[in-house]
Amino acid sequence: MTSEITARTRVLALIGDPVSHSSSPTIQNAAMRELGLDGVYVALRASWEEMVGFVRGLAMSGGGGNITLPHKEKAATVVDIRSPAVKRTGACNTFWSEDGKIHGDNTDVEGFSRALEVFLGGPPEGQKVLVLGAGGAARACLVALMDGGVGEVQILNRTRDRARVVARRIGGSRVRVLDDRREADGQAYDLVVNTTRLGLGADDPLPLDLRRLSRAGAVMDMVYLPQPTPFVEAARELGIRAADGMEMLVQQGAASFERWWGQEPSLDVMRASLQKPKGP
Ligand code: NAP
Repeated sequence: MTSEITARTRVLALIGDPVSHSSSPTIQNAAMRELGLDGVYVALRASWEEMVGFVRGLAMSGGGGNITLPHKEKAATVVDIRSPAVKRTGACNTFWSEDGKIHGDNTDVEGFSRALEVFLGGPPEGQKVLVLGAGGAARACLVALMDGGVGEVQILNRTRDRARVVARRIGGSRVRVLDDRREADGQAYDLVVNTTRLGLGADDPLPLDLRRLSRAGAVMDMVYLPQPTPFVEAARELGIRAADGMEMLVQQGAASFERWWGQEPSLDVMRASLQKPKGP
């Protein structure tokens, strides 16, 4: 990002609802500024009908952006060229245009995979994992777990049929949908991942009472604010190693940045931007 916004500045945007909590503008603008790129990244709250117009308008004007909840699945049907990650997950979180066509990718897969490796120190090979949620983020998590050689995945979601659709699309024989949260009681998991939006709202309940499990080796929460997130805090109180979604945010943001700019951003600059105090 150069210091001045001009008629040539590329406009990139995060599109979803809610978006006002997002740290994506902070990390993207910091990375562009460091490389002297002429772009600006903003957040736009939008219904899905508005999202369709924004995606087309921004991409065709030479910009691009990210899609966040609850529009990732709908966005996968809006882009012209779908990456392998979009085809596998049925969800799209990144878009831009090339040769008059709108391209879509799902960098949440790469972002989750890289963040998990940082957290675990390697891939989740052979592990037994409980995935909470079955939305767009859960789809990316599942693909990354499968590619990482996971042993077994159980999915627990408020709406069971939605979990069944996800399991049918991505799962295979290593994935099972739990009918009820009581089915997880007394089970031992190497890893528990929260992909629900619970934790975003100040009055949200925890996505799961970890005390009902016989063991949780580690906990990863895709929610990243407030720090620590309530789920991470609850895990740490029980002596369970836990990480929030900040590293995933940086890693998926870096992968999106590469799609738009054709060069790698500095992960350190992105991480450091999140530590700076915000203005009023
Ligand atoms: P989504 O497609 O809208 O899915 C939301 C999920 O949350 C669904 O499983 C939904 O269950 C569940 N849920 C919502 N309200 C609930 C409630 N009151 N009780 C129980 N479950 C509830 O959203 P998404 O795109 O998957 O995003 C999910 C979360 O992941 C968000 O917090 C998002 O910020 C986070 N995320 C973080 C990163 C990162 O980089 N750190 C990346 C992607 C996503 P139903 O199916 O029953 O509605």
